[in-house]
Amino acid sequence: MVRIDGDLDPETGESLLTALRAIVDAESRSPDPSDRRTPAQRRADALGEICRQWLDSGERPTVGGERPHITATVDVDAVRGDQGGTSELDHVGPVDPHTTRRLACDASIMRVVMAGPSEPLDVGRRTPVISPAMRRAVIVRDRHCRFPNCDRPHTWCDCHHVVHWAVGGPTALQNLALLGRRHHRMVHQPGGFSLELLEGRPVFRRPDGSVPEERAPPLHA
Ligand SMILES: [Zn+2]
Ligand SMILES: [Zn+2]
Repeated sequence: MVRIDGDLDPETGESLLTALRAIVDAESRSPDPSDRRTPAQRRADALGEICRQWLDSGERPTVGGERPHITATVDVDAVRGDQGGTSELDHVGPVDPHTTRRLACDASIMRVVMAGPSEPLDVGRRTPVISPAMRRAVIVRDRHCRFPNCDRPHTWCDCHHVVHWAVGGPTALQNLALLGRRHHRMVHQPGGFSLELLEGRPVFRRPDGSVPEERAPPLHA
């Protein structure tokens, strides 16, 4: 965990509280009965969303020729879901492999071939897993998070590979689904929700195998 503890001047504090409130209020307009987060957890997630959207925006300074973003270093074994291998983030260090698998679902990937534990042999080019055109196609089809009764807009969503690309899942429409950050976490969490696509329709299952019901029939464009 990362602990935040500090003092803000009144104006900065007001900006922060206004931004957090805007996100928490937007969520409470379409409440999810299965959402058991405490108010403090909701605010923490909202702060993460604010940072994420700022990092995603094109209008921010470059550092060392790149726009800073979350960087994960992960062994190919770990991203495939096999045992072992490192899985870490630049600032916070080691994390669960399922976290880096989730981040890798919708990321730019740079392959580094190692000659030994600390000797890079070859470094590839950074390439996005999902091309801008493919992302556009997923957004046109899904429009918002595909989890039942969730209407998180696409700007708050990741493109999830139903079968992860690291184990051969294609980066194609029939294997991609938009999921909001929280629901994306839920399908990657071990023992959490599972997701499969049946005839192009996403079917989510709870850990006990039951299917959460849609409150309203899905809209089709
Ligand atoms: Zn995913
Ligand atoms: Zn969602």
